[in-house]
Amino acid sequence: MGDTTKYIFTTGGVLSSLGKGLASAAIGALLESRGLRVTIQKLDPYINVDPGTMNPFQHGEVFVTDDGAETDLDLGHYERFTQAKLGKNNNFTTGKIYHTVISRERRGDYLGGTIQVIPHITDEIKDSIRLVADDVDVVIVEIGGTIGDIESLPFLEAIRQFKVDAGPENVLYIHLTLVPYIVTAGELKTKPTQHSVKELRSIGIAPDILLCRTDRYLPTDIKKKIALFCDVDVDAVITAKDVPSIYEVPLVFHREGLDDKIIEKLNIWTRAPLLDPWKALIERINGLDSEVTIAVVGKYVQLIESYKSLNEALFHGGLPHNCKVHLKFIDSGEITDREICRDLLAGVDGILVPGGFGSRGIEGKIRAVRFARENRVPFFGICLGMHVAMIEFSRHVAGLTGAHSAEFDKETPHPVIFLMLEWYDEQTRTVQKRDVDSDKGGSMRLGAYTCHLKKDTLAAHAYGSSEISERHRHRYEFNNDYRQLLEDAGLIISGTSPNGELVEITEIADHPWFLGCQFHPEFKSRPMDPHPLFRDFIGAALAFSRNKQKI
Ligand code: GLN
Repeated sequence: MGDTTKYIFTTGGVLSSLGKGLASAAIGALLESRGLRVTIQKLDPYINVDPGTMNPFQHGEVFVTDDGAETDLDLGHYERFTQAKLGKNNNFTTGKIYHTVISRERRGDYLGGTIQVIPHITDEIKDSIRLVADDVDVVIVEIGGTIGDIESLPFLEAIRQFKVDAGPENVLYIHLTLVPYIVTAGELKTKPTQHSVKELRSIGIAPDILLCRTDRYLPTDIKKKIALFCDVDVDAVITAKDVPSIYEVPLVFHREGLDDKIIEKLNIWTRAPLLDPWKALIERINGLDSEVTIAVVGKYVQLIESYKSLNEALFHGGLPHNCKVHLKFIDSGEITDREICRDLLAGVDGILVPGGFGSRGIEGKIRAVRFARENRVPFFGICLGMHVAMIEFSRHVAGLTGAHSAEFDKETPHPVIFLMLEWYDEQTRTVQKRDVDSDKGGSMRLGAYTCHLKKDTLAAHAYGSSEISERHRHRYEFNNDYRQLLEDAGLIISGTSPNGELVEITEIADHPWFLGCQFHPEFKSRPMDPHPLFRDFIGAALAFSRNKQKI
């Protein structure tokens, strides 16, 4: 922890889904635009040790960092909005905190003392916050959940104490609330904000700045009223107005004076903000003049949050082409025969099969791949999407009847995707072993891996380089026993681990754009730096749509 490290704690009131993660990310972006180095941490009140094994239907996407941490999807916002390097210390849950304290107690570290929420749990929380404070000017800590939840109390107590420990001039509390416009009354209502702040003050935290989520700009009299009742400065009442694009949030906050207020309150001197890149981004977003429709054929299609990074990466991929990307989510479980497949996919400009777990809807995904391959529709398969592409190719091009992934059919005569029981991990320089019964959370290939690209392939063309690094989260791998056979049938292995053992990217010849990757490129795409594979996939979809090859 540097001597002058400043801390901003963001909390949320009234109800969930007000966009606390985005607000925290946007604050990070604004501070970076003033030349400050920031990091953002999420403290999640739930008891799961990490989100890795949580159901995507309930929890949304699991975001993976370079160091292989399986984290809350808000870390995706943080990375897309800032330059911060995030890792396992940027996300703590109640479960993780308790796990550490209980393990320590079992080891006898507390010498038989009574272990209590205060101080043991709160101390552990404060230590966890300090873990990310090296080499940054400002640490932004987002507290998950809503004020009033029982679960978040230890975190709130810890951040209350933090001000005492770090000094009042180094700590700022920002509270996000809702100011609804009630149509029948024709009025903006401040009561929910008042109640939420009262609740926060009752646990000893007096917010310095209020971000008021609303559908219209707050007039001065409303700001004055909120300021009076909530005991904050009038210019610390910030309108967090709904915007058409999430990437406009930093600009809206800036216009409301948020970054000025933050640096004033924290007593930091900075240069004036350089917001031109954000302005240029919004201009580009507002000027998109072409469009494509991409079918996303997956399992978690009811909950849009499950594919958060994917949706963003597809959107980013359209930007260099000035192209708006419409998404058509298709539940692969519904693709029960070829006719339905054709009906659902006819007219789309690209087909993407995202990552996933579990066997439901697998045959539907395989049908979607076949449709893309046979009709020369641009296809992008990510992780499980690459697996199904390999199954389809093996069955229908290479003639391997019954080919499958051992994840879904243990008895398949041709396990083209299988559990590699032993392999040399070049990142950690260790031999990795997996076994069929190994602990669900512990046997995945997780985090950043280097990949070498083959010349003159779609992948090499997209990246413009021969060596890349991408993030993984999977158990199953391409089976090298089938490598030669599939290559003879026209498969191109365009990316492998540096020693060539692990197949990371596959393509097929004689198709405008057909690519599967074992990693998750969506985690590394940013609005100002769209991921090359998404960029080229959307480019191919746009060419497809222009060629009017629609079926
Ligand atoms: N279920 C597959 C595996 O574990 C793919 C995982 C994924 O798509 N992330 O290998």
